[in-house]
Amino acid sequence: MSIRGKLLGHPGADNALLATVDTGQSQHRILFDCGQGCLNPLRQSDIQSIEHLCFSHFHMDHVSGFDSFFRHTYNRPEVPVQVWGPEQTIEVMGNRFRSFTWNLHKRQPGEWIVRELRDDTIFGARFRTREAFAEAHEMTARKCGNNLVFSTPAFRIEAMPLPHHTISSLAYRVVEADRVNINPEALKKSRLAPGKWLQAVTDTNSGAGQTVEVDGQHLSIEKLREDLLTTSPGESIAYLTDFRIEPGSSEWQQVTDWLSGTDLLVVECQYHSRDHALAVRNGHMTASEVGKLAVESEVRQIMPMHLSRRYGREEWAELLAEVKTHFPGAAFPEHWKV
Ligand SMILES: [Zn+2]
Ligand SMILES: [Zn+2]
Repeated sequence: MSIRGKLLGHPGADNALLATVDTGQSQHRILFDCGQGCLNPLRQSDIQSIEHLCFSHFHMDHVSGFDSFFRHTYNRPEVPVQVWGPEQTIEVMGNRFRSFTWNLHKRQPGEWIVRELRDDTIFGARFRTREAFAEAHEMTARKCGNNLVFSTPAFRIEAMPLPHHTISSLAYRVVEADRVNINPEALKKSRLAPGKWLQAVTDTNSGAGQTVEVDGQHLSIEKLREDLLTTSPGESIAYLTDFRIEPGSSEWQQVTDWLSGTDLLVVECQYHSRDHALAVRNGHMTASEVGKLAVESEVRQIMPMHLSRRYGREEWAELLAEVKTHFPGAAFPEHWKV
């Protein structure tokens, strides 16, 4: 089991993040934002298998590549495309879907489930390709507790709205399900001989109320689980872009609590500290501030991205150096070659 993050796009240009949750049996792809050209390095089959498209907000640099995503997925059979975003996502996506000429759509498969987070409530609507996306079929709204917006047995997606100038930008975190393993010490202590029966104990999706044969005796699977299993947290990756929170504020505290212990923080790095005034005016963070945020969140690694267009190659290195004054292990994506 693992989560891989692939940063898309170049320094000073639009960026996006593709996360792949690999359970060993299946892979689940989640795309965060969809700026211009960001999908170019991906294979068509990778784009077509993206299950969730999570928008932070709808400034052009985060949505300009959507047409290319839509072209590959608009009539995907069986598995719907799930779109997430802040306030107005349903309206914005409905307009995007309808902004084409549709006359050969009636027998086309394809379903889009679009959800938006307003305060602590998730609103949703379904759109169908065969209807030329004409109608937004409203879904029942539900409360979002503990930032949780979506979960499967393999992973969960969490979201938190952050302030970005006068609008809000959604930050996301993907967390793998807890890992369940046999504790070797406990197994030794039990004096049971390891064998195929251990599979029945570790596969927690079935076996409740059943027994398994071990050394000629029938033992309760639930009791064996109690005695032999240990759980450890799965991997996690967070994506935060286009936001401004003041160090030391209650919002800052809320974010560091939420991110606590995250394996990889992929985060905007718009401005140099000398341009702090610009960062405040435009609702963005400085390199130094995101370095500090990573340290206080106790994340294991930070990947700064989404650098302002105003900087050139030499300044990219300066931005990274600034993050490193707080978080020495910080690294840009390898393909940036900075
Ligand atoms: Zn942006
Ligand atoms: Zn923005």
